Amino acid sequence: MRVPAWRDELPRLLAARGDRSVLAHGAGRSYGDVCLNPGGVLVETSGLDRILAFDAEAGVIEAESGVTFRQLGEFLLPRGWFVPVTPGTAHVTLGGAVANDVHGKDHPAAGTFGAHVVELELVRSDHAAPLVCRPAGEHAERFAATVGGLGLTGFVTRVSFRLQRLPAPSTGDRKQRSDALLSILNPQPSSSAWIEARHRRCDAIAALAEPGDPTWPHRVAWLDFSAPDSALGTGIVAEGRFAAHPDGRAAPRWGGGLPAPPLPAGMVGPWSFGLLNRLRRVLPVRSHEWQSVEAFFYPLDRLDRWDRAYGRRGFYQHQSVVPGPAGVRELLRAARGHGEASFVTVLKALGPRSSPGILSFPREGLTLAMDFANRGERTLRMLAALDVVVRAHGGRVYPAKDARMSAETFRVGFPRWEEFARHVDPAFSSGFWRRMSI
Ligand SMILES: Cc1cc2nc3c(=O)[nH]c(=O)nc-3n(C[C@H](O)[C@H](O)[C@H](O)COP(=O)(O)OP(=O)(O)OC[C@H]3O[C@@H](n4cnc5c(N)ncnc54)[C@H](O)[C@@H]3O)c2cc1C
Repeated sequence: MRVPAWRDELPRLLAARGDRSVLAHGAGRSYGDVCLNPGGVLVETSGLDRILAFDAEAGVIEAESGVTFRQLGEFLLPRGWFVPVTPGTAHVTLGGAVANDVHGKDHPAAGTFGAHVVELELVRSDHAAPLVCRPAGEHAERFAATVGGLGLTGFVTRVSFRLQRLPAPSTGDRKQRSDALLSILNPQPSSSAWIEARHRRCDAIAALAEPGDPTWPHRVAWLDFSAPDSALGTGIVAEGRFAAHPDGRAAPRWGGGLPAPPLPAGMVGPWSFGLLNRLRRVLPVRSHEWQSVEAFFYPLDRLDRWDRAYGRRGFYQHQSVVPGPAGVRELLRAARGHGEASFVTVLKALGPRSSPGILSFPREGLTLAMDFANRGERTLRMLAALDVVVRAHGGRVYPAKDARMSAETFRVGFPRWEEFARHVDPAFSSGFWRRMSI
């Protein structure tokens, strides 16, 4: 593992790799081997963690690729801005967000993260100088290959992207902030960094298949995996939007809650997921509430080391996108038919906005993510059966969440893979890429 502290160290690091292949490693929040390079060199980006420029008028920020979404949130929220798109954890880096062209709960409104990138710098082993890539103009093809390019087109050192502006703070908040002599140097949490959220229990698959209310752009559903067949697809739909708190109350500081203890290893089993699902079924849902950004977007971040709860063998996530509800229902039936149970089952809608990357995962439809404890061969058989369903519906499996799909499933799901392969840096590779036998 190499950990450069400065961007200009990259060319030397690439040259010093010998005959081994290289791969950038962000925060390692991918679920499989897109961020691993067994037998090769990993270059970790944690030392490249500087915010380089912020234009508060235009709403554009430039930062090094190792900057995390948490860092960005802590910097931006008090200044009245937020990232344009966020995945379900703030522990990801900018480089990782670009390389998997991540999507959020607001894909129909905002598209993918890559759609907001205005410029990125790419260090390649076959170019002496870094390439400055933009969505149009010189190196536009490199841009399209790098966004969603699974880290294979070179090392992204810095990224500039457009932000979303928070609603104006309430009057009370403006007063408090001026009383506190708020300055650019010491910004305080604002009343506008809240999420107004509403929840309802319903047939969540049918609900997400309908176009959402555009005034509530963030939408996600937690499905009840163990619901009876007659209620397949029941779940809780959560919708949210940024809004200024009506009382002018300042939003809580990030990380202000009590730190959660690590979950005990091996606590996830059929009994615990069944209990959780049953509890969700009977507990009342809060139809309306005000939530912090952390609570709404990153609920899992509040559980320290939640992944350890699956024990030594860990777990697999299966995330796919299929065009509509029929595919989602068939995926649920297939998993249940194999006697496997998903601990966390999440459904989001993906809109028609095309993604900028040649290999970007999102396409219009519904994306279902299911987590399964690793029970060896039987789990792998079930996952392969899910892939068959995905392919039958013309869908695709998300490489960021994958550790075992076949090369055929990948190629069928991503028909532009050959066009993409032409942009792969000859010095770069990953466990995932070799598994795809490319
Ligand atoms: C709890 C949880 C929730 C999630 N929710 C979502 C979600 O809602 N939507 C979604 O799309 N994803 C989601 N993800 C997946 C996650 O957003 C992606 O896997 C993301 O790419 C992880 O970023 P990372 O910094 O950890 O990168 P890593 O996992 O370390 O690497 C991911 C890829 O990025 C490449 N990479 C990293 N840095 C660079 C760089 N500087 N230059 C070139 N390539 C680089 C790596 O080579 C690798 O191919 C979630 C993951 C978790 C754990």
